[in-house]
Amino acid sequence: MKKILVLHTGGTISMQADSYGNVNPSADNPMNHVGFELDDIDLTVVDFFNIPSPHVTPYHMLALYHKIRDTAGQYDGVVITHGTDTLEETAYFLDTMAVPQIPIVLTGAMRSSNELGSDGVYNYLSALRVASYDKAADKGVLVVMNDEIHAAKYVTKTHTTNVATFNTPTHGPLGIIMKHEILFFKTAEPRVRFDLDQISGTVPIIKAYAGMGVGDGIISLLDPDKIDGVVIEALGAGNLPPEAASEVERLMQQSVPVLLVSRCFNGIAEPVYAYDGGGVKLAETGVMFVKELNSQKARLKLLIALSAGLSGQDLKDYIEG
Ligand code: ASP
Repeated sequence: MKKILVLHTGGTISMQADSYGNVNPSADNPMNHVGFELDDIDLTVVDFFNIPSPHVTPYHMLALYHKIRDTAGQYDGVVITHGTDTLEETAYFLDTMAVPQIPIVLTGAMRSSNELGSDGVYNYLSALRVASYDKAADKGVLVVMNDEIHAAKYVTKTHTTNVATFNTPTHGPLGIIMKHEILFFKTAEPRVRFDLDQISGTVPIIKAYAGMGVGDGIISLLDPDKIDGVVIEALGAGNLPPEAASEVERLMQQSVPVLLVSRCFNGIAEPVYAYDGGGVKLAETGVMFVKELNSQKARLKLLIALSAGLSGQDLKDYIEG
């Protein structure tokens, strides 16, 4: 018998549509009334939060981490139900914390509990199956949706409404859920883990575009005294218009760490081009290139690193590692 802790946090999986088709939170979580029998799973269910995931902040993520940390040794696995909008961020955050080495699985739904073709109960059951599967224990935090198992580090929401929204660009999923079996075909990467008691900081994300910095001085609008860092979604392999690159340099001269990812959906940013604003020049001026994370996860990586007290070369090594 596997002991699984379920932490419900809200999101569409716990919501209901009204007669106009508008989707609303529900005080009584429908996942607490699902009709499946689980002979070999002993569930402990906690309604931890009941919020839409656009309301989730790093403080909520930290509270989830503390709950999992503080119950270490009591459970064989954890399932977290979560709104899909920011699910990947909570998954990545937990994956970067010193969580116990048991399966930790996040799931959600694209259609609320009383909509036609609702996917909530199915995803919940799939998540419970994965959380009670021994081979899921050393794969890092997992996201289970629509019969696929994804690594928290790489997964992202790719569609506004489709139930096949969660994808892992560049790498592909870690495994799949079959009718009778769970199949992993990849292993998880080793990672640095932190045991944070607090998290704070202000790190905006800015997307690059053709003509950025030409007349708009967009980066100069940031007050270096009010931010702790910036993440830039750069062009292509990791380049900026020259005017924007000059503004970035000025920001870094005022001790603001600048992280760079690509705005491309696939691939990894790296210093390739040596023209003005190109990645080679940006790296030379101190911009940190983040591998394999999208901007929302790179932002969390910086918040976590700063909250853990990293600075200087240690910060650079962690961010670029
Ligand atoms: N807006 C919803 C949320 O993230 C979407 C969902 O749960 O699928 O809470």
